[in-house]
Amino acid sequence: MHKPSNRLNFSGGPGALPETVLQQVQQAIAAVPEVGLSILGISHRSDWFAAVVQELEDNIRTLLGLNKEYHVLFLQGGATQQFSMIPMTLLRGKKTPAEYLHTGYWSGKALAEAKREGPIRVLWSGESENFSRLPSDAELDYSPDAPYLHYISNETVEGLQFQRMLGRDDVPRVCDMSSDFLSRPCAADRYAMIYAHAQKNIGPAGVTVVLLRDEILKDAPDDMPGFLNYHSHIKAHSIYNTPPVFSIYVVLLVTRWLLNEVGGLNNMAALNTQKAELLYRTLDQSDNFYRGHAAVADRSQMNVSFNLPSKELEQRFLQESSAAGFSGLAGHRSIGGMRASLYNGLTLSAVKELAGFMAEFKKANG
Ligand SMILES: *Cc1c(COP(=O)(O)O)cnc(C)c1O
Repeated sequence: MHKPSNRLNFSGGPGALPETVLQQVQQAIAAVPEVGLSILGISHRSDWFAAVVQELEDNIRTLLGLNKEYHVLFLQGGATQQFSMIPMTLLRGKKTPAEYLHTGYWSGKALAEAKREGPIRVLWSGESENFSRLPSDAELDYSPDAPYLHYISNETVEGLQFQRMLGRDDVPRVCDMSSDFLSRPCAADRYAMIYAHAQKNIGPAGVTVVLLRDEILKDAPDDMPGFLNYHSHIKAHSIYNTPPVFSIYVVLLVTRWLLNEVGGLNNMAALNTQKAELLYRTLDQSDNFYRGHAAVADRSQMNVSFNLPSKELEQRFLQESSAAGFSGLAGHRSIGGMRASLYNGLTLSAVKELAGFMAEFKKANG
């Protein structure tokens, strides 16, 4: 049996990273060229690391065209900690409910945490339809009084992605972009807050990028634990306590790759579109052998979730694909089936290989 190859890693997360980034990481583990020390042993209080944080912040601002009204923070605790920190900060003590969309597995987790902190209104839920589609604008009745609107741009498990921005301009938009951050341009300055952990699309686990507009913190409670208080991290420039130096450095390398090798988010989006179209074409031309989970209009460019005609065939598909060197194709434990994740670091040629494998598998088993 073949060993899995990085090139063919379709994992839902942690996701595949670009080959050139992995090469630099390898070198940095031995010694960061300009420092002479291993990245695993460089002080977070060094001037070098302060410059890393600054460059990463600048790169994210450049990639997204973000202005100075936003703070760019690098926090720990994953997206899951943001599920709590956001309502602790923006919802405690509020009388009117925050609005949440329930579009899949991860937004369900987010709204369960928000409920502990204050009133919420579920604006729309796809639960009765097995999270197979996203709502249209006509189905969303926003209130002008909500403290904020929360939604997830890309539901990683089900493979559903909004192709438009939601909400009203007079209610703060808060968006979890964990699985599609920096995969395409996103008009970031129309959100009050965007958060994304690194490990799906832009780096290893351990760091979560938080972009937030200063004014949304004006009514925030002042009795929060220091670590859970956005102000602490703003004041400390994301070095409040020992940050994940390694993870932050790898995310910096990924943003350099996006800027210098890919050439920005428009190019990244064009490439991601090509990858996704190729794989969805394989599904659509399979005479219903490969059955996409998501409604066509809401298909994700990052996560392609699908089923085969039987559990036995799905098992065989996993075995044979892994023997051929592919990995990470099993669907999330909550819904089963298959999922091919096409994050930034995954190449078009890897998707071509998967499409080829799928066509052959169908011929042999269809
Ligand atoms: C994976 C995922 C999460 C969970 O993130 P953790 O960093 O493990 O807490 C949250 N939201 C989305 C959209 C995800 O894909």
